[in-house]
Amino acid sequence: MNKLSETSTRSCSVAVVGGGPAGLALAAELKRLGVNDVVVLEREAHAGGIPRHCGHYPFGVREFGRLLKGPDYARKNVKTALDLGVEIRLETTVTSLHPNGRLSLSTPTGREELKVDRVVLCTGVRESSRAQRLISGDRPLGIMSTGALQSLVYLQGMQPFKNPVILGSELVSFSSIDTCRHLGMRPVAMIEEQNRIVTHRILQTYLVVRGVPLFVSAKSLKIVGRGRVEAIEFIDAHGDLKRLETDGVIISGRFRPEAALLQHSHLEVDPGSGGPVIDQFGRCSDPSYYSAGNLLRPAETAGWCWREGVATAKWITEDLVEQGKKASVEDVKLTILDPAIQFILPQRLSLSKRVGGMDKMQIGLKQPSSGVLQASINDNCIWSARIKGHPVRRIQKPLAEVLKKESGANVKFTIRRDL
Ligand SMILES: Cc1cc2nc3c(=O)[nH]c(=O)nc-3n(C[C@H](O)[C@H](O)[C@H](O)COP(=O)(O)OP(=O)(O)OC[C@H]3O[C@@H](n4cnc5c(N)ncnc54)[C@H](O)[C@@H]3O)c2cc1C
Repeated sequence: MNKLSETSTRSCSVAVVGGGPAGLALAAELKRLGVNDVVVLEREAHAGGIPRHCGHYPFGVREFGRLLKGPDYARKNVKTALDLGVEIRLETTVTSLHPNGRLSLSTPTGREELKVDRVVLCTGVRESSRAQRLISGDRPLGIMSTGALQSLVYLQGMQPFKNPVILGSELVSFSSIDTCRHLGMRPVAMIEEQNRIVTHRILQTYLVVRGVPLFVSAKSLKIVGRGRVEAIEFIDAHGDLKRLETDGVIISGRFRPEAALLQHSHLEVDPGSGGPVIDQFGRCSDPSYYSAGNLLRPAETAGWCWREGVATAKWITEDLVEQGKKASVEDVKLTILDPAIQFILPQRLSLSKRVGGMDKMQIGLKQPSSGVLQASINDNCIWSARIKGHPVRRIQKPLAEVLKKESGANVKFTIRRDL
């Protein structure tokens, strides 16, 4: 029989899917805590995740006490994990998740089944594609995401265009200005469909400094070009048709979890966050699966994901020591009733003798909101707190009061709006 068609079988204690900041920090911490046989499975030829192609500062200050560029930070995470005895398997893609910690892998030597005590999903986020953003027009060369641009510029030293337009105004859209400048490209404009930039308003001054005009409230975007991008057309804030000559389009931001693996799996997925449903320990609906990093929600910084990885390693280690005994739990579901709320993490609480876990909920908004966030059981308010925020911004609230509620009861979240 052809060797590549055979499926070999292996086992290990913990398999981490994805070798980005979350996965590497988590694997390293597991080793520090004495867990044997920790394997990171990474589909790329190099581990390190997104920071590998973020050739800019600031990374690593809180983690390593040093100001690093993305690639140096990625190398430091890889080295730390290897030095602690983590096995990193490269060019190894997890192709399916099965119940009770069984994984199907595609490896350089063929297919493999891996049986593990605990799997940790850390596959990160990616940007929304042109199709997902419903941008019409021609299909010429010169259209790419910020991630693809960063890979070309920082990993291959290539200049894919000279004067691109940036679609989007999240933090990552601003970082694409620096990526362009690294190889002498000059963006001709930043275009945003919302009526203001999505990230903090203060960054608008950066556009002035860099001489990049901003167009907000842009509608009906259309890419024009035969062979290569020639222009982008849109209806501007005054309702006029605007045409900008350009040779490239960077479609940036609108992160969504890299959740392809979840879609065909037995694990419960949260349609709001796009990631797996977890409890306060990062544990998925199948208790042999955990998750950390940006797969949980779009999107946090590398440092945040790194710390989330470290924290989750502690909870997994406790779980392994207890042999899952205290995992026999009653679940409380956190249900969102307000259309302005995109997601709440964790999506459920495990009521067991196990203490610890996250001390804060993470809340994502679909639209700017201001009011009082209320948690209720059977129409009785058990907790409330003021909330004021925008989509894509970090919002956290303490979990302690919500954790105190009666077992078995579902907690419903609403926002009482300011008049
Ligand atoms: C274009 C872009 C630019 C960004 N810029 C910044 C920035 O400047 N600063 C910042 O702080 N944050 C930035 N971020 C946010 C970024 O998500 C975090 O910095 C951080 O990388 C998240 O860490 P992670 O470990 O969750 O995921 P990632 O770093 O995304 O790592 C996930 C890893 O999983 C691997 N993987 C995925 N699926 C599989 C599979 N099936 N099998 C095996 N391996 C798999 C991937 O190859 C990848 O290496 C950016 C994100 C993007 C998309």
